[in-house]
Order: sequence, then structure tokens, then C-alpha cells
Amino acid sequence: MAITDKIYVKNHRQLSSQLETNIPKGAFKGATLDLLFLGDGLEKLDETTRDRVLDFAEDFLDCGCDTNPYCGCAERKFIQYLLELRAQGLGPDAIVDVMTDDYMVYAYSGDVLSFLDNGVRTLEAAESLARVDGATEKADEIRQSKQELSR
Ligand SMILES: [Zn+2]
Repeated sequence: MAITDKIYVKNHRQLSSQLETNIPKGAFKGATLDLLFLGDGLEKLDETTRDRVLDFAEDFLDCGCDTNPYCGCAERKFIQYLLELRAQGLGPDAIVDVMTDDYMVYAYSGDVLSFLDNGVRTLEAAESLARVDGATEKADEIRQSKQELSR
């Protein structure tokens, strides 16, 4: 399961009651995206919640794909966001705190940790492949990202 399947809407019950409908707990579930961003849900939300939801939409759902929000861009951008937080030196707990502050979503820090570990292992494999291929520059670039991720 991808990390984006393990990102949850904070206060999801409260949100559901404001929207007067039951939204799924998973932030990247299709029904959540539909209800929050495509329906007339926004105006029913209190201001703080609405601001977070709008920030989320602006930062992750701003692509022009026909199939938005089901094109996968949101998930890719969110993963990028997690990696950037990591590159800033944040650990799993701090990453969860920041995503909650920024977008009112959360994850279990154990899930974030294994996501980061998997990322490092993937990069390790990619680095070895690049070296085998003689793509030294590429390999160095990958190693750089790996160090950012694992420090
Ligand atoms: Zn897209």
C-alpha cells in the first residue's frame, strides 16, 4: 500500500458532520476528494477547516489533467512534499505534525518511517543500477538524494 493510502483526514468525524455526509477517513480516497473539492462542501465548513482544505487543493490538486483528481498527480505531489520535509531534516513525528498543521491530515509515524526506509532502499537499488550502467553522474545524483533522505 502506498503511503498516500495511509494519510487520514484529521477530525474526520467533525468534518463529516459539517458536510452532513459521511466522508471516508482516507484523505486520498476518491470520495473524499470528490466531496471536499468538487461538491458544494466547502461552504459548509468552518473557516479554519476551509482554509486547510483550500491549501491542500491548491498545493496538490492544481493539475490540468482531464481525470483530476484521479490522475495520480495529487499522490505524487504529496510524496514530493513528504520527501522535502525529510530533506529539511525532519523525522517521522515532526513530519506528521507539519502535515497536520498545514493540511489537517495525519499519518502514523511508523508508516512514515517505513515509507522513508523504503525510499532509501529504492534509491540504493537505483544507484547500483546506474553504476553498473556506467552512469556515474546519475549515480552520484541518486546518492545525494539518498543522503538527504537518510540523515
Ligand atoms: Zn493530474
